[in-house]
This record gives sequence, C-alpha cells and structure tokens, in this order.
Amino acid sequence: MPNASPETILRHDWSRAEVRALFDLSFPELLHRAASVHKDHFDPAEVQVSTLLSVKTGGCPEDCAYCPQAQRYHTGVDATKLMSTEAVLEKAKQAKAAGASRFCMGAAWRSPKDRDIPKVAAMIREVKSLGLETCATLGMLSGDQARALKDAGLDYYNHNLDTAPEFYNEIIRTREFQDRLDTLEHVRDVGMKTCCGGIVGMGESREQRAGLLQTLANLPAHPDSVPINRLVQVEGTPLAGTTELDPFEFVRTIAVARLMMPKSMVRLSAGRESMSDELQALCFLAGANSIFYGEKLLTTGNPDTERDLALFARLGLRPMQIVETAGTVHASIEDHQDHPAHTCAA
Ligand code: SF4
Repeated sequence: MPNASPETILRHDWSRAEVRALFDLSFPELLHRAASVHKDHFDPAEVQVSTLLSVKTGGCPEDCAYCPQAQRYHTGVDATKLMSTEAVLEKAKQAKAAGASRFCMGAAWRSPKDRDIPKVAAMIREVKSLGLETCATLGMLSGDQARALKDAGLDYYNHNLDTAPEFYNEIIRTREFQDRLDTLEHVRDVGMKTCCGGIVGMGESREQRAGLLQTLANLPAHPDSVPINRLVQVEGTPLAGTTELDPFEFVRTIAVARLMMPKSMVRLSAGRESMSDELQALCFLAGANSIFYGEKLLTTGNPDTERDLALFARLGLRPMQIVETAGTVHASIEDHQDHPAHTCAA
C-alpha cells in the first residue's frame, strides 16, 4: 500500500468546522485530495457492484418524507407480502450472472417481527450459498434479531442515518435519530459489517450535509459501506418539488465522505439512474467505488444495465470481484475495514 497521507489516518473526532472546511475547498483541490486518498486504499479502476432486491415492498408505517413505500403517502406503490425464499434465490442467481458481488435484501418494515426473522434467515443462507456477499435492510433491529441474522450468515446490515441529527425531525417523525444509532450498535456488537449513509438533496443545508458526514465518521467504527443517495423525488411524498441539489455539491459530498472515511466503500445508490455519465465519472474521481444495480436492472439486456456496462468500458472501470476462502466471502481487494471486529476471517 502506498504511504498514507495524514488525511488517510482513520479519525472519529471530526469537528463540524473541520468538515465544513473540506466542503469549502475549491472544487479542484477537493477532488485532487479525495482522488489521492482513494488511490491510497483502493484500486481506482475497481467498482463494487451490488444488487438490491425489495423482498417486501410498501405498506410501511413510518413517515420518511422521501419514501414512496410509506403507506401514508399516495404514491401508487402497492404493498406486497414477503417474497418466498425460492423467488429470492432466483433473483440472486440472476444478479450473480449479471456481475453483482453483493446481494442486498430490503423489506419496508419499521422493524421485523420476531416471526419474520427465520424467513429472512432462510433467504440469507440460500443467497450466501451462491457465493454472494449478503446484505439486508429491514428497519430497526433488537440485539437478538441482529444475532440471529448474523448466525444465518448475513455479512452486512444497511441502516442509514439519512441526514444530520439537527435536520432529522424535518424528515422523519415516527422514530428518533437515537433509534438509528441503537440499531447500528446492535449490528456492530454481533460483529456484522455496517452499511450506513444518507440522502442529500432533501432541502438540507451544506452545514447539515457536513453534519451527516461528521456523524457517520465519528461512529465508533466507520461504516464499511457508505451509500450517498441523491433524493429521487416521488410525486405524492412530502419532498416532491424540493429544489434540486447542485450536481457539483453532490460530488463534493462524495469527496468529503472519501476523505473522512478513507477505507470505506463509498456507494452511489439511489438517484444514480438520473445522473449523466459525466456526473458519475466525476463521482468515481471523487472516490465513489461502489454502485447499486436496482432490482429492475436484474435482467440482462436491460437498457440501464447496458448503459452501466458501456460507461465502465468508456472509463476503463471493472467490477470488483469477490473470492471465497474457507466459507468466508470477501472482496478481492485488501482488507478495507477499520475495526478489528469487522475484519474478514479467512
Ligand atoms: S422505514 Fe424505510 S420503507 Fe419505511 S418509510 Fe422509511 S424509508 Fe420507507
């Protein structure tokens, strides 16, 4: 690994003023620093490809102002029951064939009921048996639920902070910011890796974007994956009609995330479909090294999948591969964890 610059030392004591100072750098200076730190820890030509499958859609009792799956908003999303294990396995096989190395299963729940856990555990075991990394996002978890999912073979748990603590109640009122932190603690306590980021473009200020990244980087362990979502405005949700975020500000957010959490996978997820190729290229330059193929992209021949593959070819990027060693699935890159409990045991 190349010599680490001072900025690549893992820190958990960022002040808001320090984060603001990074955001306020000139765009070229910020990108130069972020690209340099990215290269210290990763091969910049490699991008991890993950696939997200909604295993239970809609009908959620929560009130997240951005979410079309909240039952209280009229967005045309029909609520579905939990998918069968067989149907999930079929989708996972398609995802693997399409080049995904990680398969994330999402359910629109406030939190899973205890009776749901064995069903999700069966899905996890089957997906894992394909040699895919497994991830789930199911809402808030108790300590016992986190343990059961870990025992089933779950590698990652996604639970986003969504936004800065001081902006949280503008977006969600049915739970507290501390609830998010508690679930993340349960996940870390059982030794699962965390996938945790947020959404920008919800009307928050730059100060609040800095607050989101400050909170993420100051967690006891940096999230292993940090999804940075750009708000997808959905008619019927309270955030429809919000002023669009300047695309350069989105790139800045990626770059600052890379500088503050240098060993984490920084992921472009929601909102990527509407980004130009040039904007995505800037994001990769700024240190993004993971993307989501949404579930609608699972079938090969899909125009969006074709577009991604073409963009990879134009930029000389390649999907990050995973290797399997003695039953443990992990990325083929060097260890990118920042906490001993999160290091893959080969
Ligand atoms: S908890 Fe998840 S599914 Fe439910 S409204 Fe919020 S973001 Fe949507």
